[in-house]
Amino acid sequence: MKPTVAYSMDADGLGWIVFDDPAARANVFTAAVHADLRSALAALAASAVKAVIVMSAKEKIFIAGADLRWLSKLPDAVAVTAVSRDGQSTFAQLANFRVPVVCAIHGACAGGGYELALACHWRIASDARETAIGLPETSIGTIPGWGGTVRLPRLIGAKGALEHILKGALVSAAEARQAGLIDEIVPAPELKARARAMALKLASEGIPARPRPPSADAPMFAALRAGTVKKTRGREPAPLRAIDLIERTEMLPVEAALEQEARAFGEITAGEVCRNLIHIFFLKDGVKKLSVDAWYPTSTSPAAVRPFGKIGVVGAGVMGSGIAQWCAARGHEVVLRDVKPELVERGAAVVRGLFDEAVGRQKTSPEAAALGLARLKTTTAWEGFGDCDLVIEAIVENVAAKQQLFAELSAVVRPDCVLASNTSALPIEELTAKASHPGRTIGVHFFNPVSRMALIELVLGPQTTRETAERTLAFAKALGKSPVICRSSPGFLVTRVLFFYLNEACQLWEQGVPADALDAALREWGWPMGPMRLIDEVGVDVTDFIFGEMAHYFPQRFKTSAICRRMLDAGMKGRKNGAGSGFYSYTEGREALNPGVEKFRSAARVSMDAKALSDRLNRVMIEETKRVLDEGVLKSADDADFALLMGTGFPAFRGGLMRYAKSIGAV
Ligand code: NAD
Repeated sequence: MKPTVAYSMDADGLGWIVFDDPAARANVFTAAVHADLRSALAALAASAVKAVIVMSAKEKIFIAGADLRWLSKLPDAVAVTAVSRDGQSTFAQLANFRVPVVCAIHGACAGGGYELALACHWRIASDARETAIGLPETSIGTIPGWGGTVRLPRLIGAKGALEHILKGALVSAAEARQAGLIDEIVPAPELKARARAMALKLASEGIPARPRPPSADAPMFAALRAGTVKKTRGREPAPLRAIDLIERTEMLPVEAALEQEARAFGEITAGEVCRNLIHIFFLKDGVKKLSVDAWYPTSTSPAAVRPFGKIGVVGAGVMGSGIAQWCAARGHEVVLRDVKPELVERGAAVVRGLFDEAVGRQKTSPEAAALGLARLKTTTAWEGFGDCDLVIEAIVENVAAKQQLFAELSAVVRPDCVLASNTSALPIEELTAKASHPGRTIGVHFFNPVSRMALIELVLGPQTTRETAERTLAFAKALGKSPVICRSSPGFLVTRVLFFYLNEACQLWEQGVPADALDAALREWGWPMGPMRLIDEVGVDVTDFIFGEMAHYFPQRFKTSAICRRMLDAGMKGRKNGAGSGFYSYTEGREALNPGVEKFRSAARVSMDAKALSDRLNRVMIEETKRVLDEGVLKSADDADFALLMGTGFPAFRGGLMRYAKSIGAV
């Protein structure tokens, strides 16, 4: 079989090492790729080469890092440490190569790919958009293990190295140059020629000497440690391990430092958190391949899926404005409708604000924002809806109002227009009962705020056609969102599971457990926010409304807690309507139990420790998710894990709700 790494020597005596795995779209490191690289190095070492150039033949990828499936299947820390030592020794051959080695980077150069680059003597990157460089290992719960924690501090200093490693993200060629990760940037078409010229130059001048950066002092490491503990709440061992490791090894001889890295890498990578985070990585990666096939087993996909062009949005409230802005920003013509001019204007102001915010956060340029804004039209009539490819309704959550709207819309839009609802809980078939083409109706449940929440539940009604589903799925992906496909059913997955959980928390509260004890228990388990605090954020009114929906659809099992209703009767809607309006009062940045609500709490004091509380609430979520899966609302436990992770803030380091459930024997 063709090797994954080719090598050759040209007429000028330059050796070329070219990564191009014939069996895959991306180059990734496996044991076989390391072996192929070693063969290439051995052959070139035995030849008369004057210098060597390392590059990739893939269009958009240099080397995407280690094969995570391979790493995550290794049985234990000893096996992972062995893999680390193996890779380190291959890269050491590069670092100690008798002639200069130039690395020419174009496309993703991640993890092991960048550690290979670090072992070379000169690094040149293309300025292409797809060039992204660095050591993102901490984002999947591990640390660099093929020399990254050793060579990067020796190149740019421990502080810069750790700042990069702790960020856990790839950077552009320009940022990489600025941080010292690479030596130079060239336009993509010139990369090969520049690498060649540099290799010839170094062949005559010799391997460049690099001054050793001064060592970092203890307070620098302490500050990074404190910041990391605050950010990860000590839940993720990898970032702290990276800090400890670099502090201990930055002044050691390279070999001794590498050995410590190999051992730390083994322990961390074989650990539970890393395995969970790698699992999450694959769940996220799976979105690209998501298809509707499993939902339409008897039909096949058409050759081409017709993309949506113009989008209509009905309802210019919180969700409608957010959806309109997101679609306009991604190139769609958008028409946004509400019932009164002042409501339309309020929505348009929100859209403008969102564009301004995107510019402020450097997510887009002022020019692109202006173009996006120009793609948005508003109306209080139906003008502009006649040529829409997709209309998304985001009006009040009311079956009769939505039914009426779908009937009205059916008479206004083109016969091939897809009609979608952003409902967060109502079955699509109920809402679209009066639509003239139920096959072209679907749910697209965006989450709030649209600009920050990637999840979309794509909800298939019993009559939704394959074409409608495929077009809408392609649209969701093109928006850069993360869709999960579900069958229409009350509350779909996220609303249903989340509000069963919040209701259980309210029941516990009513039985006497203080809000801060509940919240502390769930935060301790890993949630970014506890349930009572979450109700304050979501709104007591919204929560009570959805409790009502759940009680309507699940009358046997959903026993609504009365507390939200009592709070509403007392005028408390949660944080949005003032200091004393939630389970907490929020005054001058201080959060304290709200005495106005405390008086409703039972005088009985239930004694449950933090673990018992989190177990009880987690159990409710697990049981409800099991039901959702048994009912066929979702196709897999992985889909449920992904949706809850993206839609509720489920703690990633736990690897997903159902994965956790499995680990404790609950499924
Ligand atoms: P909202 O009250 O902020 O906005 C609704 C808007 O729809 C109002 O401006 C209202 O005037 C307008 N409207 C009502 N009937 C109309 C009609 N016939 N034609 C045109 N406009 C009409 O509501 P929202 O929070 O944006 O929620 C909208 C939908 O999105 C609901 O179905 C809700 O369940 C769902 N949703 C809400 C959230 C959230 O967090 N707010 C999240 C996900 C989904």
